[in-house]
Amino acid sequence: MILVSACLMGVDCKYNGKNNKSLEILELMKHKQVIPVCPEQLGGLTTPRLAAEIQGGEGKDVLSKKAKVLRKDGADISEAFIKGAEETLKIAESMGAKSAVLKARSPSCGTGEIYDGTFKGKIAKGDGVTTALLKMKGIQVLTEESDIIIALTNR
Ligand code: SF4
Repeated sequence: MILVSACLMGVDCKYNGKNNKSLEILELMKHKQVIPVCPEQLGGLTTPRLAAEIQGGEGKDVLSKKAKVLRKDGADISEAFIKGAEETLKIAESMGAKSAVLKARSPSCGTGEIYDGTFKGKIAKGDGVTTALLKMKGIQVLTEESDIIIALTNR
C-alpha cells in the first residue's frame, strides 16, 4: 500500500481546480495498490482555493508553530494544513502504508524542496507539512520526480 497525492492520479483537487496527472504515477498504479490522498482537502480547504506557501520555515516548523502557511491574500491557514497532515497520517496508519509518493514542491506534499513563500515560483529547501509529519512517523516519502518512480516508466 502506497499513499499517493490524488492530484498526481488526475483528481482535480489542486488549488486551481485542476490536477497534476503524472505518467509515472499511472504506471505505478499498474504495479502497486495506491491510496489517493489530498491533505489540503482533508484539512477542510475548498477546491478551488487561493494558493498558499510556507513562510518562515518548512513543514516541521509549521507543525511546531514556528512557521506559518499563508494564503496569497495573507490569511493564516496553518491549522488546515496541520489538520490535513494529521488526517493523512490516520489514513496511512489505518491502511498500513509505509511509503508515499507525494507531489513535488507543494507546501503540503513537497519533499526536500518547497516553494519559498514569496509566490514567485522560487524554491527553498524543506518538506511540506504532511510530508514532515509522515517522515516523523517513519513513513518513506518520495516524489513523482524521484529516480525510482521515473524508472518505472522506462522499463
Ligand atoms: S495537497 Fe497534495 S494532493 Fe492535494 S492538490 Fe496539493 S499537492 Fe495535490
